[in-house]
Amino acid sequence: MNYSIAIDGPAGAGKSTIAKLIAKKKSYIYVDTGAMYRAMALFFIESGISADEQEKISAACKDVDVTISYENGEQIVWLNGRNVNGLIRTEEVGKMASASSANKDVREKLVELQRALAEKESVVMDGRDIGTVVLPNADVKVYLTASSRVRAVRRYEELKAKGEECNLEVIEKDIIERDYRDMHRDISPLKQAEDAVLLDSSNMTIEEVADAVIAMCK
Ligand code: C5P
Repeated sequence: MNYSIAIDGPAGAGKSTIAKLIAKKKSYIYVDTGAMYRAMALFFIESGISADEQEKISAACKDVDVTISYENGEQIVWLNGRNVNGLIRTEEVGKMASASSANKDVREKLVELQRALAEKESVVMDGRDIGTVVLPNADVKVYLTASSRVRAVRRYEELKAKGEECNLEVIEKDIIERDYRDMHRDISPLKQAEDAVLLDSSNMTIEEVADAVIAMCK
C-alpha cells in the first residue's frame, strides 16, 4: 500500500524544505506541485499570454505537456520535453503561476498528473490543495504556516544569498498579495483541510517541524 503525506500552506512557510527532508527520511518521492504550476506559467509567459487572459490560458492548455522525473531524488520538471528547473523560480513566474493556477483547465490537468503519481508511489506532496482536493484520503495532512513577516525574511535572505537586489517590504507585500489570491480564488482555494494538523513554523527549526510531521506517521 502506498502512503501519502499532504503538506499545504502559504508561500514561504517552508513546505518544500520540510517535504524534501521527510521524503528523504522515509524514502518516499517528493512531489513539488508548485513547480508544475510554475512550469505551466512559464509556458503562458513564453506564449505572450498575460495573467488576465483566462480564455487564452484555457485554450493554451492543450499545447502544454508537463511531466516530472527524478534524478538523485531531485524532481525535474519537463515542459514540452524541456527541463525547466532552472527557469521557474523567478518572481515573474511565481506571480503568473498564482494567476494562472486559478484557471479550471490548468488545475484539471495538473491534479490528474498529481493523483497518478500518488497512485504509483508513496509520496510527500506539497502545494495548496493537496489535503483538500488532490489527495483527500492522504494518511497524514499538515497545514504549515508562519507569519508573513517571518516568511518574507526567509525569502529576503534566500535572495540576498544569491546576490540578488531585494527589499523586505516589497517581498512581504508580494507574499500577502499572493496568499490573498490563493485563498480567495473560486476553485481549490488554499485552506486548511478539516482533518489537517496546523503547524506554525515561525518559531520552529526545520528539524523540529520535520520531526513533528514524522511523529504523525503511524
Ligand atoms: O509553491 P509555489 O510558490 O511554487 O507555487 C506557485 C503558485 O502555484 C502558488 O502561488 C499557487 O497559486 C499555485 N499552486 C496551486 N496549487 C498547488 C501548488 C501551487 O495553486 N497545489
